[in-house]
Amino acid sequence: MLLRSARSIKLFLLWTGHVPIRKAMNQSAEQLGVVGGTFNPIHNGHLITARAAKEALGLDRLLLMPNTRSPLRMSEPLADAAERLEMVRLAVKDEPGLEVCDLEVRREGTSFLVETLRLLQEMHPDTPLTFLMGVDSLETFDRWKEVERIVEMVRVAVMPRPGSDARSALKALEERTPALTGKILLLKQGPQIEISATDIRKRIKAGKSVSYLVPDAVDAYLKQSDVFKGSL
Ligand code: ATP
Repeated sequence: MLLRSARSIKLFLLWTGHVPIRKAMNQSAEQLGVVGGTFNPIHNGHLITARAAKEALGLDRLLLMPNTRSPLRMSEPLADAAERLEMVRLAVKDEPGLEVCDLEVRREGTSFLVETLRLLQEMHPDTPLTFLMGVDSLETFDRWKEVERIVEMVRVAVMPRPGSDARSALKALEERTPALTGKILLLKQGPQIEISATDIRKRIKAGKSVSYLVPDAVDAYLKQSDVFKGSL
C-alpha cells in the first residue's frame, strides 16, 4: 500500500513536470558526451552538428575537447593548443550544455582517446559516457590505440557530414575489423553543414572573411590575432 502510494506520488510529480523523466525512472541523473577534434579552428559546422547530436542522444552536457595533435595528421599546420582552446571557449560560452574540455591539451605529447576516456571515467564514475566523432573518423578509427577497448568502455556514435556516406564507411570499417561490428551507432542525418576548418584556414590566408562560418566571438578573435594568416 505504502509502495503503491509512493509510486503514485512519483507519477504525479512526473505528470506535473516536477521530476525529470530520467530521475523518476531511477536512471542516471546525467548523460555526458564528448567530441574530440583538432578544432583548428572551431566553426559553425562543429557547433550545429554537436547540438543536433546532443539533442538526438538526450545528452545533458557535451564536452568539446581539442586534442594536442592527432597522431594520424602530423603534417598539417596547427594553431597553438591555447589558441584553439580559447576559440572553443568563446564559441560555447552562450551555448547551454556545450562545454570546453582541456583534458587533452593539458597533457604533454600525443593524445590517445582511450587514455582520455579512462581519465573522464575516473572523473565521472557513475556517468555513462558517449564519444562522438564525424564520419571521416571511421576511415582511421580501427587504427586508434586500443579501439576494441574504447567501444567497450563508452557508447560511440557517428555524426553525419555532407559528402560522406556514413553507412558505407561503417560497413567498410566493420569488414576491416569485425570485432567492431554492431558497436558503433550511426546518428540519423541531421543538419548537413558544409563547413570545414581547412576551408576556413584557406580563406583567412587569402584575406577573405569567415563571418557566418564561425561564431561572432571566434571571428573577432581571429581578426585580432595572426592565427592562420601565414599558413594553410
Ligand atoms: P579539417 O578541415 O582541418 O580536417 P574539420 O573541419 O574536419 O577540420 P575537426 O576539428 O577535424 O574539423 O573535426 C572534429 C570533428 O567534427 C570530426 O569528427 C569531424 O568529422 C567533425 N566535423 C567537423 N566539421 C563538420 C561538419 N561541417 N559537419 C559534421 N561534422 C563535422
